Amino acid sequence: MARALKPVDVVTIGVGLTGSLAALELAKQGLKVVGLERGASRDTVPDFQSPAIHDELRFSIRKAMMQDNVKVAVTFRNSSDQTALPIRRWESFLPGQGLGGSFVHWNGQSFRAQVADFIYKTHILRRYGKKFLEACGPELTIQDWGVTYDELEPYFDRFEYLCGVSGKAGNIKGQIEPGGNPFEAPRSREYPTPPMKETYFGALFRKGAESLGYHPYPQPSSNLSECYTNPEGIKLMQCVFCGFCERYACEHYAKASPQTVICRLCSIDQTMSCERTARSCASIWTQHAKRQPASPTRMQGASSMSNPRTSC
Ligand SMILES: Cc1cc2nc3c(=O)[nH]c(=O)nc-3n(C[C@H](O)[C@H](O)[C@H](O)COP(=O)(O)OP(=O)(O)OC[C@H]3O[C@@H](n4cnc5c(N)ncnc54)[C@H](O)[C@@H]3O)c2cc1C
Ligand code: SF4
Repeated sequence: MARALKPVDVVTIGVGLTGSLAALELAKQGLKVVGLERGASRDTVPDFQSPAIHDELRFSIRKAMMQDNVKVAVTFRNSSDQTALPIRRWESFLPGQGLGGSFVHWNGQSFRAQVADFIYKTHILRRYGKKFLEACGPELTIQDWGVTYDELEPYFDRFEYLCGVSGKAGNIKGQIEPGGNPFEAPRSREYPTPPMKETYFGALFRKGAESLGYHPYPQPSSNLSECYTNPEGIKLMQCVFCGFCERYACEHYAKASPQTVICRLCSIDQTMSCERTARSCASIWTQHAKRQPASPTRMQGASSMSNPRTSC
């Protein structure tokens, strides 16, 4: 039955990456924000703990974290003269469902966009000429964004420090830094945490690439190389290289997700969920900017707390 709730300033439809980030920023401005999430409420403890979270049949094959495309179809067509058809089986496109959205089962690769990405049309025109664009036909609708990399740089920086991204800068304010990506756009400062440890295969690849004159660099990741406390006061743990990032949630508090970098500042109220079926329950998510992050006792059920490699 429909129920009238107390009015609030802002409601986000969905509590994935965008919904939770917007809620955080708006709540900091003093607004009262509620997020409505169509999927289940879930948290690192108890929902993401092993052995259940490493069930490959459930998460990799049956894609348990993804949108249920029997109930909510996404349609697709390759060109405008085709009839769009529903996608019946998820392959590379894997939209999430549940508190945290796709940002729970993402990989953690944390690249910034390049300068040219924001002026894509101008860049292609300059580099390849008008004829190149015309040859692509009317279906190609690329445009410049209307904001530039320089305008967004402080926000890339803020996001990286929120997530604790592990990496090595290649260009700080125009100064090329050894060990990083020399072709990246200028950044205002170093990554918040150092790059991940190099694996054996990574070292082989790096040596091979260097011997050919290339510039390999450690990939920036939101899977953390060391323990880190973000500017919101929330602590993340060190990655233990379990390998269950994509399509899975991190049981170790070591991968940035709404649960690990934002939601511990919020209150989660599932009172609506009992009115729906378990598969389509809604969580009401209220953000209180001044609320303290969950105390470590809240995290004590996590296996990472007792793992000597990740204890901080
Ligand atoms: C497998 C995988 C790996 C990825 N790896 C990377 C990576 O390594 N690096 C990278 O940069 N990006 C990666 N991405 C992309 C990244 O996760 C997404 O870009 C990001 O999560 C999108 O944020 P969003 O808020 O738009 O959507 P989501 O995070 O998916 O959030 C959308 C939320 O809205 C909810 N919702 C939708 N409709 C409704 C409705 N009508 N009512 C209520 N709730 C609703 C959904 O249930 C969901 O929780 C990956 C994505 C996937 C799927
Ligand atoms: S511990 Fe590391 S490898 Fe395992 S899921 Fe977390 S971030 Fe990914």
